[in-house]
Amino acid sequence: MGFLNRLGRSRLLRICTYGEPVLRDKASPVREINDEIRELAERMITTMYENETRGIGLAAPQVGVGLRLVTIDTSGDEPPPPDASPGELLLEPRMPLTLVNPEITAASSATSVFNEGCLSIPEVAGDVVRPVSVRLKTQLLDGETIEIDCGGLLGRCLQHEIDHLDGILFVDRMTPEDRTEIAGELRDLERKAKKHLPRGRR
Ligand SMILES: [Zn+2]
Repeated sequence: MGFLNRLGRSRLLRICTYGEPVLRDKASPVREINDEIRELAERMITTMYENETRGIGLAAPQVGVGLRLVTIDTSGDEPPPPDASPGELLLEPRMPLTLVNPEITAASSATSVFNEGCLSIPEVAGDVVRPVSVRLKTQLLDGETIEIDCGGLLGRCLQHEIDHLDGILFVDRMTPEDRTEIAGELRDLERKAKKHLPRGRR
């Protein structure tokens, strides 16, 4: 057991916030789906659900683990409509889902704007332009590999979460004008995050 020891005993994991360096690192591939990975996934799902603002996705770097693992639940109370994307139709009934080494292999040229938020950037929201739909290639926790087109909220959430694996945050993708408006909030978060840094990096 390596990283699990560091995460403490509580099933709820602490979510790293803006300013903590782990959110800016490029995460490493998961080499083997073992008990440690399964436990991490389970605790990430619990953390995602029990957060004050219920999350629809969480990436391992957000709980301080630099691995390419994402948990996701974009299913609503209703099943996806028949005209939803193949990914929503296939995956939403199976949520919550854990994605291991997910990647985007294609993206639509059509884009849309959506007001995004992030558990690691509390109380900040902003408009982000992204492709409407993306092709997701990923392994699932049972080892199955799928490649499928995902639109709607799922397609949006996947892009946000996979960005986390490369150290990219949604605020990086906001327009410079919009970013200026939240600069003060980001500075405050950065100041608060300093107490979680080891002494040398404060
Ligand atoms: Zn996020």
